[in-house]
Amino acid sequence: MEEQQDRCPHCGSDDLKRYKQTGYGQVYPMKGILRIGGQTLIHLICRRCGTVVRSYVEHPETLE
Ligand SMILES: [Zn+2]
Repeated sequence: MEEQQDRCPHCGSDDLKRYKQTGYGQVYPMKGILRIGGQTLIHLICRRCGTVVRSYVEHPETLE
């Protein structure tokens, strides 16, 4: 994935880092849990103030 020039909306810092949330933090569709695997959730977090700038799934193309 390409690097993005996102900025923290809270403090304006561009010192953002992606963190993966796995295990129990995985998100699943409300229906069909057994038909599709869980999605790893990625958080883009500001390393200056800790604001979660963005949260997204790793493979949106597989979402139902
Ligand atoms: Zn910040």
